Amino acid sequence: MSAAFTSPLAAELAPGLLERFDRYVRVGTTSRRERTGSPSTPGQLELARMLSDELRAIGLEDAGVDENGYVMATLPATVDGGAPVVGLIAHVDTSPDAPGDGVEPLVHRSYAGGKLELPRGGAVLDPERMPELHEVVGHDLVTSSGDTLLGADDKAGVAEIVTAVAHLAAHPELPRPTLRIAFTPDEEVGEGASRFDLARFGARCAYTLDGSSLGELQDETFTAAEAIVTVEGVDVHPGFATGKLVNAARLAARILTALPADTLTPETTAGREGFLHPYEVSGTAARAQLRFIVRDFDDEALEGHVALLRRTAEEIVASEPRARVRVEARPQYPNMRRHLEADPEVVAVAERAIRGEGLEPVRTPIRGGTDGSLLSANGLPTPNIFTGGHEYHSVREWASVQEMAAAAAVAVRLAGEWARVTAR
Ligand SMILES: [Zn+2]
Repeated sequence: MSAAFTSPLAAELAPGLLERFDRYVRVGTTSRRERTGSPSTPGQLELARMLSDELRAIGLEDAGVDENGYVMATLPATVDGGAPVVGLIAHVDTSPDAPGDGVEPLVHRSYAGGKLELPRGGAVLDPERMPELHEVVGHDLVTSSGDTLLGADDKAGVAEIVTAVAHLAAHPELPRPTLRIAFTPDEEVGEGASRFDLARFGARCAYTLDGSSLGELQDETFTAAEAIVTVEGVDVHPGFATGKLVNAARLAARILTALPADTLTPETTAGREGFLHPYEVSGTAARAQLRFIVRDFDDEALEGHVALLRRTAEEIVASEPRARVRVEARPQYPNMRRHLEADPEVVAVAERAIRGEGLEPVRTPIRGGTDGSLLSANGLPTPNIFTGGHEYHSVREWASVQEMAAAAAVAVRLAGEWARVTAR
C-alpha cells in the first residue's frame, strides 16, 4: 500500500475505481440549460444505461433506467430487522461551462509537485494558483488532456459509489442496511432533483458524493434565485430619432453600473457572503434583458439582494417615463441546512464514517447547490460528501486517485455505520 492511501480498504478499492472512472469520463454527458426533455442530452442516457448494466452485473438485480433517465438500483441488507434504507446519489452529467466531449483522461503517477502542463490547449495546473495541489504530492492525479473538462464532477462520485457497492456485494459478511443507489441527470443545469421519484427511491436519508476536498461533509448550500430584468424602450429609426428614441440597451447598462461592484459579486465575496451576479446581458434599443443569479446562505439576505436589484432598476428606468421595466425573480434551490439540522443523525453517521477512514470531517458551506438541496427540502435529508475532484467546470479539473479511493471507502463505511445504528 502506497503511503498516500488513507487506509488498506482505500488502497484495495483504488484500481477498480480508477478503471471505472477512466471509462465513465470518456462518455460525453454535457447537460444543456434549455432542456426540452429529461435528460437534456443523449450522452447522459448512454452512460445511465451503461451504469444500469454494470450494477446488474454486480448483482443489483432491479437496476434500471426510468423514463427521465434516472438510474435506480437496490443492494439488499445483510442485517435483519427494521433497518433504515440509505441512499447513495451522484450525477452523470457534466457542466455546460466547459467542453465535455472527447475527454481523454491522463493519469500522472506519483505527482512530484510543481507545474503540470497538459498536452493540449496550453492548460497548466499550477500550485501557485491551486494550493490544493500542495496537499497531493505523491498522489496519482488524473487530468484531462487540456482541451476539455475532466468530468470528476461528478463521475468521481459515480465511480466511487459503483466501486463501494461492488465491494459490499462481494462481501456479504459485512453488515449493511438496504442501500438504494441513484444516478441523476442534469444536476448542473439545476434539474437533477426535479424528476427524482422520491417515493420509488424509498430511502430514510441519502448522501450525494458530489463534493471536492478530502474529508468534506457539507450540510449547507446557498439559497438560490434567478432574477431577470427586462427593459422596454422606444425604438425609432436613428435618422428620425430626435426627441423620440428611448434606448433600452443604454438603460440596462446604467442599471448594471449602478449595482455594487466591490461587494455582492462572486469575485469579491467568499465563505458565507452572498452575491448578485449578472451572467447574461442581451438587448437592442427596443428591448434589453439582464439575467442575474442571486445567492446567499440566509433567506432574508437573499430577498434583500433581489429588493436592491428591483429598486435600482426601477429608479433608473423611472428617469425615462416612456421606458418600462419588469423585474421577475424565481427561486432555484433552497439551503438544505434547515432540513438537516432537524435530523442530526444523518450528518452524525457520516461524520463517524469519515473518521473511520482516519479523516477529520471538514464542514464547509457549499457556494452552490447540489441535488441534496432540493431532495432535503422535499423530505429526503441528503448531505454531500467529498469525491477527491478539484477545479470543477474547467479544463484544469483534476482528481486524486488516493482521495477518490478514500471517498469510496467512506461510502463502504457509511453502510457499516448505518447497519450498527439499526442493531442498537
Ligand atoms: Zn457536481
